[in-house]
Amino acid sequence: MKPPPFEYKRAETLDDAIATLAEAGDEAKLLAGGQSLIAMMNLRLVRPTMLIDLNRIGDLDYIRRNNGTVEIGAMTRQTTLENSAEIRTALPLMTAALPHVAHKPIRNRGTIGGSLAHNDPTAELPAVAIACGATMITRSASGERSIAAADFFTGYLETALADDEILTAIHIPASAPGTGYSFMEISPRKGDYALVGVAALLTVKDGNCADVRIVCMGAGDRAMRMESAENSLNGQAPSNDAFRAAAEAAAKSADPSADFHASADYRRDLIRNLTQRALAEASSRCQ
Ligand SMILES: Cc1cc2nc3c(=O)[nH]c(=O)nc-3n(C[C@H](O)[C@H](O)[C@H](O)COP(=O)(O)OP(=O)(O)OC[C@H]3O[C@@H](n4cnc5c(N)ncnc54)[C@H](O)[C@@H]3O)c2cc1C
Repeated sequence: MKPPPFEYKRAETLDDAIATLAEAGDEAKLLAGGQSLIAMMNLRLVRPTMLIDLNRIGDLDYIRRNNGTVEIGAMTRQTTLENSAEIRTALPLMTAALPHVAHKPIRNRGTIGGSLAHNDPTAELPAVAIACGATMITRSASGERSIAAADFFTGYLETALADDEILTAIHIPASAPGTGYSFMEISPRKGDYALVGVAALLTVKDGNCADVRIVCMGAGDRAMRMESAENSLNGQAPSNDAFRAAAEAAAKSADPSADFHASADYRRDLIRNLTQRALAEASSRCQ
């Protein structure tokens, strides 16, 4: 299938992309890795009349450490992140999640910015961004904005990005020493989008769980932080009973949909099961 006709503009610089987008308005779409956008155009789910290609803008492709924060350019490929020693050390949850994103050839083209801006409810990187407390940096002709991940993902394939805004960078606090992590998901086949998934982070302080973060994918119209599950575990000694109670709370908070692949009840069961297992694994990784 071929997309409907569109005009193609290749931006050489970020300023060039911002100016072209400001002029074109909501008729234009930004082209990053193209791994979601082109499929959606082929299926006529979106019909931009212009694509603005970001692939020549080298300034948007970097991973750097700024004190306790990892700064990632929006055009950084998913494979680059997966292979990065800096990411493995500072954000092990992201390293654990990335092999679940599609297949290697797709990760070679797909970018972190494209995945976050696309915001599929079962995509891995939005869940990681929420769990790690990321901040999205955006630019438009009106200037720069910083948007907390908790406010960025607003609904099914929706974000807080305005039509004239470009996601330029993602700033993520490096994982604190002693933080345990786990990423688990179930998908119909390896490389498919997940039915559900869980990203978990926790520490153990004075023998009790603290700073618990649980984010589920496939539990609603976007990745969802499971606050009642987190509250049930914070302050409890790590144990299978405590993890089971938190998992039960996560399953109760979830509002999964039903489709051709799985019923809502089955997805809720998976959320319960994966949350319990992810918390046990995260706890075993606390140093
Ligand atoms: C067969 C298949 C399986 C897949 N499985 C998974 C999976 O399991 N998990 C998963 O997470 N993803 C999966 N994907 C999607 C893949 O990860 C994409 O790479 C990703 O969703 C989009 O990244 P991209 O760089 O290709 O963005 P594009 O497709 O180029 O863009 C996606 C959207 O984001 C917008 N956009 C891109 N960059 C920016 C920016 N910097 N600022 C503002 N807006 C921007 C575009 O305009 C477009 O609307 C799959 C894709 C395929 C084809």
